[in-house]
Order: sequence, then C-alpha cells, then structure tokens
Amino acid sequence: MDCIFCAIETGAAPSHPVYEDPHAIAFMDINPVVSGHVLVVPRRHMTDLYGLGEHEAGPYMTAVSRVAHMVNKALAPDGLNLFQSNGVAAWQSVFHLHVHVLPRRHGDELSIPGTPGDHQELARLAAAIRSVE
Ligand code: 5GP
Ligand code: ZN
Repeated sequence: MDCIFCAIETGAAPSHPVYEDPHAIAFMDINPVVSGHVLVVPRRHMTDLYGLGEHEAGPYMTAVSRVAHMVNKALAPDGLNLFQSNGVAAWQSVFHLHVHVLPRRHGDELSIPGTPGDHQELARLAAAIRSVE
C-alpha cells in the first residue's frame, strides 16, 4: 500500500511532528491553509471515518482534543476549526483518516487548497506546539 501518512507514521517519510501517543500522531500540514495547520492521524491505516472502530474513536478524539489544546495554548489564535473530509466529493485528497486542526485569526485568509509551507517556519511552529505538551 502506498500511503504517505503511513510512511510518515513509520518514519519512512519526513514530517514536522507535534504530538504522538500509542493511537495517533500529529504533524504540520505541508500545504497549510492557515499558519499553524496541523493534521491528527490514527497510527492504524484506515481510509476515512467509516473505518474507525468504535473502540478506536475515543482514543483518537482524545488525541485530536489534546492537539487542539496544544495549538490553542502555543499559538493563542482568536478561534480554531476542526475539519475532516470523507470522499472526493467532500474534498478528501489523502485516503488515510485525518482531522485538520486550524487555528484562526480574525480576518485571516483561509484558502483551500493551501500553499506549500516554508520548512523553517513549519519547524518553528512544530517546536512551539510541542513545547506546551
Ligand atoms: P484532505 O484534502 O484529504 O482533507 O487533506 C489532506 C492534507 O494532507 C492536505 O491539507 C495536504 O496539504 C496534506 N498533505 C498531503 N501530502 C502531505 C505530506 O506529504 N506531508 C504532510 N505533512 N501533509 C501532506
Ligand atoms: Zn495510511
């Protein structure tokens, strides 16, 4: 199976990590739609939300909630969105379940799809978010 998020999970592909636990990992999106855009990904491969077992939903949402708290504390945004897509019709483009954590600023210019992030800036943001865990 050729899955970029599985490759990041195993370390075969690089990322700017911000969080990990036995169930999930989180890292900076390489094409952020806003500054501080983070993805929270279950370690086990599943295409979308429909592949997430009930027993897995609790631990996964705990990770999502933790990461949202970390982003909020580290970056002090004015607001924050969680966003999750299932299927091409719903804008899914990577077929390994993920939740987007989007810190928002009044008047920011969120545009989908995002644009390639500067890697030094992504590394700086990841370090800032990791530091509040
Ligand atoms: P979707 O459109 O499926 O909801 O979101 C997929 C997200 O994965 C996009 O925001 C895209 O920028 C991000 N993405 C795609 N490939 C990579 C990658 O190799 N590394 C990282 N960190 N993010 C990726
Ligand atoms: Zn995968």
